[in-house]
Amino acid sequence: MLFSRVLRSLVQTSEPCLGRAIAVATPFRTTAPRIRFCSSSSSSSSSDKPPKPSSSQFFTPTSSKSEFRAMAEKDIDSYLQQTHNRVFEFNAKWAAEKKAADPNYFTNLCAGQNPEYLWIGCSDSRIPAEQITGLEPGDAFVHRNIANLVCNTDLNAMSVITYAVEHLKVKHIVVCGHYGCGGVKAAMTPKDLGVLNPWLRNIRDVYRLHEKELDAIKDEEARYNRLVELNVIEQCRNVAKTAGLQKSYAKNGFPIVHGWVFGFKDGLLKDLQIDFKGMLRDIQKIYNLTDA
Ligand SMILES: [Zn+2]
Repeated sequence: MLFSRVLRSLVQTSEPCLGRAIAVATPFRTTAPRIRFCSSSSSSSSSDKPPKPSSSQFFTPTSSKSEFRAMAEKDIDSYLQQTHNRVFEFNAKWAAEKKAADPNYFTNLCAGQNPEYLWIGCSDSRIPAEQITGLEPGDAFVHRNIANLVCNTDLNAMSVITYAVEHLKVKHIVVCGHYGCGGVKAAMTPKDLGVLNPWLRNIRDVYRLHEKELDAIKDEEARYNRLVELNVIEQCRNVAKTAGLQKSYAKNGFPIVHGWVFGFKDGLLKDLQIDFKGMLRDIQKIYNLTDA
């Protein structure tokens, strides 16, 4: 079955969580669900002890993946219930703490949003925009998809940018990619990935645009990392091609666009320091939508 082939190939990418997310979400499953956690080397055996299904254990970072898998296979219902409940337990605690620290906290949230930033990032579960930047609720309008793409036919992305620029009047638009991106890796793989083909083709197009530079990089990981960066830069360019951005910048001097890349190895953001003004100027030779 095509879809199962696609899932297998995604699970085998270097970004296991991309494969995992899609594997769990697929509605085309024909057999009983098996929850499998990202693991390329560990496997369960008869000597693995299934851990007690206490809610904290499911999220203990030190628990081995084989323990997770052994537990999930033997007690899936309990696992699902507890991983669901844990979110609500945390939420109640978070709400109480916020209110205790500031009695007006939720009153202020109700009043509306006035974010400084629009964040366009990858859907990868390891990059929570607010946590890695210290932003609070209300600080960033967020849009995420596989490989942080900005496509002009994507009504979702176009609506987000238009709303953020024209109504929320954000001052910064950040396109944030990350090294080890499974979407970028999949696009580097010469394979039919079914329904993902049109989405990933946007990244293949980035490769084609920068083929000379990328082909000159002999080390595969270095080439992969550079494609991640070039993909971010091209998506910044796509943001700059939108009418809303161009008109707002001509009128107000904002927002400006930034290209960043997050690294799992050190948890740091790298600013690609794109020359936004130069980029916009170059783009407007062909894509000028300011009616000027
Ligand atoms: Zn990614």
